[in-house]
Amino acid sequence: MLELEILGSNATAPTREGPASSYLLRTETGVVLVDAGPGSLLAYCARHDLADLRGIVVTHMHADHSLDLMAWAYRWTFPEVLPRVPLFFPEGERERLAAFDAVFGIPTLPTMNSPIAQSWDLREMPRDGTTVHTVDGVAFRSYAAHHSVPSAALRFEAPGGRTVAFSSDTGYCEPVVEAARDADLFVCEATYLEADEQALHGHGHLTARLAGALAAEADARHLVLTHFASPALWDEGRAHAASGYSGKISVAVPGTVF
Ligand SMILES: [Zn+2]
Repeated sequence: MLELEILGSNATAPTREGPASSYLLRTETGVVLVDAGPGSLLAYCARHDLADLRGIVVTHMHADHSLDLMAWAYRWTFPEVLPRVPLFFPEGERERLAAFDAVFGIPTLPTMNSPIAQSWDLREMPRDGTTVHTVDGVAFRSYAAHHSVPSAALRFEAPGGRTVAFSSDTGYCEPVVEAARDADLFVCEATYLEADEQALHGHGHLTARLAGALAAEADARHLVLTHFASPALWDEGRAHAASGYSGKISVAVPGTVF
């Protein structure tokens, strides 16, 4: 079994609909958090037990995907110390995690000196599309998305062959097409309806139309649009994506389970 639950899907900040980027993969035995955007811990605790968390995978270290890592780490070390689980992050970002600890670690509390390093078993992901990691029995690979910081598109393959792919934040690029190849579910960012060259190819984002085109090129079976700049763009974004993609399209509405 591999189910996807949307915790939050908004770009940059939480909205009244839910948190910023954060998803759960639900297996037979637990849940894996993919991205820890602001609001993710609160949304998680409303529906799940902390004891069920088997690991965290962060696609990239922008705040709308990772800011709650410190909230999670504080909870993991206080009032009781919870069992360490793996935290996967893109290769090259260890220093940024250490800087996060340097800012918010509490030297006078031994369990919270370096909350992230103390809470999680830190594992760097080479973005090579070949190295296989495993979390809660699910194998996955990481691919080099095109974004302003090291950004990892992800491809999870459950026992039995079901695949769930995530674009992370990215411009249109071949490694993300590979990550999404024939995926049963492809969670793809659609930050904008329209954007200029700098936003798409300099900084690295997609429009909803480009998300549809990418899903079509990858032959993904079901496109789940996420990371809109605002919930107000959901309906129009779906229509734009459908202009170049004939498969099933959903919007990553918080609370939805696929
Ligand atoms: Zn980003």
